[in-house]
Amino acid sequence: MRGKNLILVFVVYLMIGGLTACNGIDTGKQVPMKEKKNVAMDYKVNKTETEWMAQLGENAFEVLRKKGTERPFTSEYETFWDSGVYICKGCGEELFSSATKFDAGCGWPSFYQSIDKSKVKEILDNSHGMGRVEVVCSNCGGHLGHVFNDGYNQPTGLRYCINGLSLGFIKKQ
Ligand SMILES: [Zn+2]
Repeated sequence: MRGKNLILVFVVYLMIGGLTACNGIDTGKQVPMKEKKNVAMDYKVNKTETEWMAQLGENAFEVLRKKGTERPFTSEYETFWDSGVYICKGCGEELFSSATKFDAGCGWPSFYQSIDKSKVKEILDNSHGMGRVEVVCSNCGGHLGHVFNDGYNQPTGLRYCINGLSLGFIKKQ
């Protein structure tokens, strides 16, 4: 009896495996199952890694989707002071205002607050043995940078240290 059950379980397992494999066959829009698993489902904007790569290009993909960090003092926005709104390069959501941007001298565009608290999600990040707080776009989950409480002399005391590669800019008066 037990042996029969085991065989049944095994057959069902094979069937599920077979179906899953079918889903992975490239039929245009379908994507391999392996890739689907990596898509975070708790964000409004969901794309596969292939789609993100095609949209963002290698450098922005590395930051936004792989939590990379751009080299300091390399961003076009690091010493850029035009009036306007900084948007997420992944999904276009408005994230930071130029009115809250300040020169932290750290090598990355820095802001003392986001446009609205709902726009960015803050997540405890213990990677590299540091208890940092990661900042991601609430709309697409794209990695933006980290927030530190060393925004001395700033109204909030915070420093949102953001990778310029994760941002776009819309000029506004
Ligand atoms: Zn986004």
